[in-house]
Amino acid sequence: MAQIFSLPVIDKSSARAVEAVASNVIGVAEFLEAHARCSLCGAPLTSPAERFTMVSPFGNGGRVTVCRACHRAALGEGYRPAV
Ligand SMILES: [Zn+2]
Repeated sequence: MAQIFSLPVIDKSSARAVEAVASNVIGVAEFLEAHARCSLCGAPLTSPAERFTMVSPFGNGGRVTVCRACHRAALGEGYRPAV
């Protein structure tokens, strides 16, 4: 005997919950943007002009965001500017 399962119903409260989560994610991104720190020395990165994204030379291709001073040092260590 076959069982019949009803399809999940997406009600309006679920949609609101998804919107709330989405707006929180955007809030977190904005928070991180406003409170970014250099990955190497920890200096606050206050303006986008002081922020450099570099690609790690260590195989995994990881990215780090660094300040102007560390940017120069990172280039010397083999980091490449992220495109
Ligand atoms: Zn730094």
